[in-house]
Amino acid sequence: MNLLKTKKLLALGLLSWSLPASALHIMIDPGHGGVDTGAVHGAAKEADLVLKVAQRLKTILEKNTDFKVSITRTTDRNLGLPSRVKMAEDAKADLFVSLHANAASDQRAKGVEFFFQNNLPPDEESLFLASQENQMVLNSKELHDISGGDELSKKGDVAAIVEDLRRQNRMESSLHLSKTLTQVWNADSSATHATIKQAPFYVISKTSMPSVLIEIGFLTNPREAKRLLTTEYQSDLAQKIYSALLSYKEKMDNRTAKTLD
Ligand SMILES: [Zn+2]
Repeated sequence: MNLLKTKKLLALGLLSWSLPASALHIMIDPGHGGVDTGAVHGAAKEADLVLKVAQRLKTILEKNTDFKVSITRTTDRNLGLPSRVKMAEDAKADLFVSLHANAASDQRAKGVEFFFQNNLPPDEESLFLASQENQMVLNSKELHDISGGDELSKKGDVAAIVEDLRRQNRMESSLHLSKTLTQVWNADSSATHATIKQAPFYVISKTSMPSVLIEIGFLTNPREAKRLLTTEYQSDLAQKIYSALLSYKEKMDNRTAKTLD
């Protein structure tokens, strides 16, 4: 690759996650764990359910050499939100996929939700949910990691512009992944309702790579909770996420190829 192309890619903010390897490195993040059970309703415990789906997704991804896969936890252990972000950064993951399960005061609430981070002000419901999912970090000693300081101001103008473009690209990629996930769900007439939302969840706000937080269903909805507890449905969820990741990778590979033309 010549210097001009390198500059072009840098300006587009693509270099860090589109080029280094042909395999797309996914960091799967099963939410909660240990003393932090997440939402609990009857027999359904969020930390356990998301770990099961995460492990199924990991197994599927590992069979395809187009993907490299890492996971933030494989057991029921405590893991702070900043540690999850650090693991993804240290591993230089291309994509961060966090799995959670929902709870609502209205037991009719149902469906899968895909959250990505962008610049728009979040709606109140999303903000409330985000604050619940972010609770563990606010209670932890790692609180100081949240603020992070104004990093941009420490950098030069050019670096700030590149960083800005990179963030823009990250948001667009995250939105694209969310849309792809929704398409997979909508293509299956028997699948539960799927929506895209945006909210300031810690893990998808603080990771530098494109990211999505998936709420796999509502534990407070009796029908959905019952289904979430079955291995068949857990497999179906993992398979659907995998299908979306395949489409996402295809799109990203095409985009990189076009940029290099
Ligand atoms: Zn959660």
